[in-house]
Amino acid sequence: MTLAPELLAVLACPACRGSLDVTGETEGLLCPRCAVVYPVREEIPVMLVEEAVPVREWKKGRREANPAAVCFAGLNGKTG
Ligand SMILES: [Zn+2]
Repeated sequence: MTLAPELLAVLACPACRGSLDVTGETEGLLCPRCAVVYPVREEIPVMLVEEAVPVREWKKGRREANPAAVCFAGLNGKTG
């Protein structure tokens, strides 16, 4: 699987707007500034802060955001 260089060029970290690096296996896009990896699912980069995986977790093999963090984000997003 490869991501087009043109695609990578226009992608930016949603948190810091910094440029992203492709991780070794092109399974994710690394933001060096935030030290998080945005997963690539079915060749589509998931550019959501809530889906970002901390680099140290990513290196352990985790490919999904912390469920607790997702839950927390969900609670924050609730209006009623
Ligand atoms: Zn960032």
